[in-house]
Amino acid sequence: MPYDVPDYIDAYFTHQHDSLKPYLDKVLAGERFTYDDAVHLYNSPDLLGVGMLADLARKIRTPEAEQAYVWWVHNYHINPTNICEDTCHFCSFKKGPASPHAYFWAIDKVIADIHAYPEKDTLREFHIVAGHYKGADLAYYADLFKALRKEFPHVNVKGLTAAELDYIAKIEALPIEQVIQTLIDAGLQALPGGGAEVFAERIRKEVCPGKITGEEWLDIHGLAHSMGLKSNATMLAGLGETPEERVAHMISLREQQDKSGGFLSFIPLNCYYEGNRINPKYALTGFENLKNFAVSRLVLDNFPHIKAFWIHIGEKISQVGLNFGVDDIDGTVIQEKIAHAAGTQSSQGLTMRQLTHLIRQSGRLPVERDAFYNIVKVWDEVAMQDLVPAQVLKKAYSKST
Ligand code: SF4
Repeated sequence: MPYDVPDYIDAYFTHQHDSLKPYLDKVLAGERFTYDDAVHLYNSPDLLGVGMLADLARKIRTPEAEQAYVWWVHNYHINPTNICEDTCHFCSFKKGPASPHAYFWAIDKVIADIHAYPEKDTLREFHIVAGHYKGADLAYYADLFKALRKEFPHVNVKGLTAAELDYIAKIEALPIEQVIQTLIDAGLQALPGGGAEVFAERIRKEVCPGKITGEEWLDIHGLAHSMGLKSNATMLAGLGETPEERVAHMISLREQQDKSGGFLSFIPLNCYYEGNRINPKYALTGFENLKNFAVSRLVLDNFPHIKAFWIHIGEKISQVGLNFGVDDIDGTVIQEKIAHAAGTQSSQGLTMRQLTHLIRQSGRLPVERDAFYNIVKVWDEVAMQDLVPAQVLKKAYSKST
């Protein structure tokens, strides 16, 4: 693929950092990165070099008119229950049914809460994930999705991880295909990427033995793709996994995408350690977060988007990640509960102004999207003037909840 490599990139790899020069040649030739290549990049101390390769790969794989874009969505998280039968060691969200902090929301409450959100008319995506709880069964989710589509037809319904779908199929004693079809008929439009954690059996056995295997997770996404759903994929790093296990996770996703083609984005997450059983010695550094962005962009050549989920990664590293292969920063994330339960320090619900500011400061162009990366609005200088000042929005919202 012809691409004019800026002189500074050529000079960087040719004169001072020649150990990465073969990878520059691969990016320019559009060649696939191997497992060994990716492990080498993880182990390289040359963070800036790996970041430059990822940024170049992002640009080469993106139409010229979209190369400055950073996608974001005005989204609203719905976590209908924190009651869960499973016991993932990294989870600070789950509660037992007898806990004074356990909750399970009636559908009317979910709908009323969204109506109380002052910016509901410009929402584009509901992100719905919750605990594995018998009360939240197939009928509950089908009714919830129907109600959401009826009340808010302008908002995409993205809901239920592969692990949740598997749980619902088990409690209903139904084939998973039937569960997915029932939910599609009720209004489900896309799947989030959760439940993937790290696919390595060694890690899953230790930290989430009750959850579906990595292979099952991939099969469920493949099935969903064959039924017309789009989906996303995550990797929860910071569980004690090795760089080799992270690369194997990415290669498995790439193989699945070759087969079924329905993944929209890859979202590298990092674990938090408050109120759970994972040893904080595994906490990721900023260096490792940036490596996860860059290596995933290079390996996942068939994934259109790499997302920095700022709630997990933090606003600052997410913003820097825009130079390490990232082209999506998730969204306004109104009412996120799961990462905050585990101690993430990022803001609870960035306003649209804050989010667009963060992107524009990095020299890129904020582009508002729906769940399928259809453009809602390009937030250029003129559009920015229409934004409600952040403090007004914050005040209005805090009064209504
Ligand atoms: S991560 Fe999900 S499945 Fe695991 S304990 Fe928490 S809520 Fe339950």
